[in-house]
Amino acid sequence: MSILSINPANGKLIRSYKEDSEKQVSSKIEKVHSAWLKWKDTSFPERAELLRNTSVILLKRKLELATLMAKEMGKPIAPGIAEIEKCAAVCDYYAANGADFLKDETIKTEASKSYVSFQPLGVVLAVMPWNFPFWQLFRFLAPALMAGNGALLKHASNVTGCALAIEEVILEAGFPKDIFHVLVISSKQVKPVIAHPLVKAVTLTGSTEAGKQVAQQAGFNLKKTVLELGGSDPYLVLADADLEQAAEICMQSRLINNGQSCIAAKRFILVKEIEKEFTRIFLEKMQSKVTGDPFDELTDLGPMARIDLRDELYQQVEENIKAGAKCILGGKIPGLKGKHAYYTPTILTGIKKGMPAYEEEIFGPVALIFTAKNEEEAIRIANDSPFGLGAAVFTGNQQHGEELAAKRLNAGSCFVNSLVKSDPRLPFGGINQSGYGRELSSFGIREFVNIKTVYLK
Ligand code: NAP
Repeated sequence: MSILSINPANGKLIRSYKEDSEKQVSSKIEKVHSAWLKWKDTSFPERAELLRNTSVILLKRKLELATLMAKEMGKPIAPGIAEIEKCAAVCDYYAANGADFLKDETIKTEASKSYVSFQPLGVVLAVMPWNFPFWQLFRFLAPALMAGNGALLKHASNVTGCALAIEEVILEAGFPKDIFHVLVISSKQVKPVIAHPLVKAVTLTGSTEAGKQVAQQAGFNLKKTVLELGGSDPYLVLADADLEQAAEICMQSRLINNGQSCIAAKRFILVKEIEKEFTRIFLEKMQSKVTGDPFDELTDLGPMARIDLRDELYQQVEENIKAGAKCILGGKIPGLKGKHAYYTPTILTGIKKGMPAYEEEIFGPVALIFTAKNEEEAIRIANDSPFGLGAAVFTGNQQHGEELAAKRLNAGSCFVNSLVKSDPRLPFGGINQSGYGRELSSFGIREFVNIKTVYLK
């Protein structure tokens, strides 16, 4: 069987990859484990130096790696370069702070000495999505390697080229030859990898459905999991918000990565006083964005990552229109020649309970507008979702915004007058159907370690 990499801008085959056989998969797992037996005894300064090398190599190769993303999943070059720079930054961050996050913690008891020591677990399997092919992996890999673990990557099938490029970067940086390997396998072949006795834990970033299946298999085998899943982030715009600024941030957050981001703004919940004015400004901003060739500097939005995902999005929009939503922008597949995955910015208004979009995640450049009678109803709608990844509130009263963010909105990250973003210094993750566990910051590096109690009488 083969795994295909297809250019979403024109439907043409970039490359076909031969899937790893069962034997090859077992051999890679064993190799990473053997490398780990030595790697776990290396010092933090040694690991930090290799992470800093990785950062230098990523920056040196950023244009080439951004080009690969543009071809495989349609991301325009400028945001591709920014993604690689962020990967370099997360390597530098854990090189600088990892040792401190994992230093022994003394706890006073009646013992002569008692403390917590953070020990690596071994081989960790990462199952990753295509939307940020480098960032999603590096935010796991940098802390995992710094903590002394080994890693295996099963990347999304459409970005195998990116996966193999990451393997190259890690080797070039001077990491031990087998401490990280890419498994070229389909999602059907993941189950036995999770069950393999040398694989100690699994992290998955992807859809809620994939998360449930992987968690079930890991649970059966008693393997620790971190799950970074789907989201339908609500952005509340209150009556005292600066509408121009709020609309700009909302537009940016909805269209980031062509709408294909877990923490993109997906639901815009407007109190009725500002509904008309906000919608007018927001529509103008959404309309002004240019969809086109990811290699063209004037392009804001490339194609979506795969033709089937675009077709699914088109259907989702159609179903919501049938259920009573009003489409005030877009909603159509552009009539370009040939096969492609393009879809232009779209706005649906009048979203109500009972319509599919009330519950579902919309993974593309489609904004959903909800109107609330007042702030209380806006909060109720925001929390009435199966997801809980991020949320944002826009208000002229920063203190009031903080109260809502800290106490009233149910999500893993709540931002005030800002778009929700990931940052190496801040923990990242969700609640409910958006998953569990955290990546980044000191919390992320402590997910895949044995929090070991040491006690001396
Ligand atoms: P996906 O279809 O769930 O795929 C993600 C990864 O899981 C891919 O490597 C995929 O492999 C694999 N996979 C799918 N089903 C599996 C199964 N049953 N067992 C084992 N592996 C399986 O998601 P996607 O379309 O790539 O990404 C979009 C989704 O990811 C959205 O829901 C988005 O919100 C979520 N996401 C969440 C975060 C976060 O941090 N919370 C970040 C980014 C994306 P194949 O490609 O071979 O199918």
